[in-house]
Amino acid sequence: MSEKQLSLYIHSPFCSHKCGYCDFNSWAQKDVSLNRSWLTRIKRDILYWRDKFSQTSLNWRSVFFGGGTPSLLPDEILRELGEFLFSQGITSSGLEEFTVELNPEDVSLSKLDVFKQMGVSRFSMGVQSFQDSYLRRLERQANVATNHRALELISTYWKGPWSLDLMYALPGQTLEEFQQDLDAALVYNPQHLSLYQLTLSTARSKNWDQAEESELAEFFTLKKKVLESLGFEHYEISNFAKNAEVSIHNKVYWELGEFLGVGPGAYGMLSPLGMLPSDSLGFDRFGFHQKAPSNFDSWINDQRSMDEEIVEKRDFSLHAKELLLMGLRLKEGVKKARLGEYISAQLMSSNATKGLLEENSDSISCSSKGMYLLDYTVKMCFYALDQAFPGLDSVQVDPIFGR
Ligand code: SF4
Repeated sequence: MSEKQLSLYIHSPFCSHKCGYCDFNSWAQKDVSLNRSWLTRIKRDILYWRDKFSQTSLNWRSVFFGGGTPSLLPDEILRELGEFLFSQGITSSGLEEFTVELNPEDVSLSKLDVFKQMGVSRFSMGVQSFQDSYLRRLERQANVATNHRALELISTYWKGPWSLDLMYALPGQTLEEFQQDLDAALVYNPQHLSLYQLTLSTARSKNWDQAEESELAEFFTLKKKVLESLGFEHYEISNFAKNAEVSIHNKVYWELGEFLGVGPGAYGMLSPLGMLPSDSLGFDRFGFHQKAPSNFDSWINDQRSMDEEIVEKRDFSLHAKELLLMGLRLKEGVKKARLGEYISAQLMSSNATKGLLEENSDSISCSSKGMYLLDYTVKMCFYALDQAFPGLDSVQVDPIFGR
């Protein structure tokens, strides 16, 4: 029997309200009976994958339960999901990490306890700001007092790792205000912080002004300076960790590891289930995405099998680009063994990437300038790749699942 190491993403799409900046696959919940329909479909999809891998011994590495707002789900649904994951061997043997996203307004001792019983080992809390005016503008449901109460509870009673999300470059936000947000967060001694810049592509509101490029540079420099001086490692462009408490699950994405996604719009990245066709360029896998549904009803009522839903096989070019797109986010960069010798050499010798990349013994990573200009760096890498392999986009592999 072959073996495979896998991670699992579970997506709950429900939120109490759609925040003003959110373009995730999430919907304001109108009808709580949908929770059960959601759970039924989640179980169906996990069973589908179990059958697909019936000839493979699966080693589950990590689970990430995100959304949406998983903490909005009622306790009985969470308990049933926990029992199901246990019964399928997902949480019952050697997981390295089981993270759940929490919204501050849902945090209570009893909720933390329900998650603990499910096997959850890590929380990620979306605080976003410690200023009521920005929280209102973002249309968050928690206010500053709620954020403090939730942080007080989690930092006092939760003995495992947890992470805190903040946003910066909010419309009109000053550097001093961002510094105050960092100070307020650090009072609770988080070992992991995710600091995301608000960009127009994530802001649904048309009335929001994007901070100027020079202001964004100042925010970026401030977060790095403050947190690194306190012993945090800036291990990913938006993420900082102390004591190596990095997000194991998110590293699977950034390293383009193998994972399944269940829930509306979730996606996965897998090697073909059979033997990989060997290729001359040294790539080691191809991935598959599921279609994102336009709404919850279309997902829940979709009677097609997952085989019919799974789309978007990766060709050589797309896969190489995705390795760079995700891997260059990490301080440690992309392993040369994944890119292949030829591509690594092309990237490092291209004029387009000059000063943006660094070559280490076994990896290629961003220089400090390249990390700050990450979007541009990735674009230049793609350009270098297109120059090195004209026509690569036409390379296809045979579809799997008999299609
Ligand atoms: S709580 Fe999170 S997922 Fe839900 S609408 Fe707000 S930002 Fe989006």
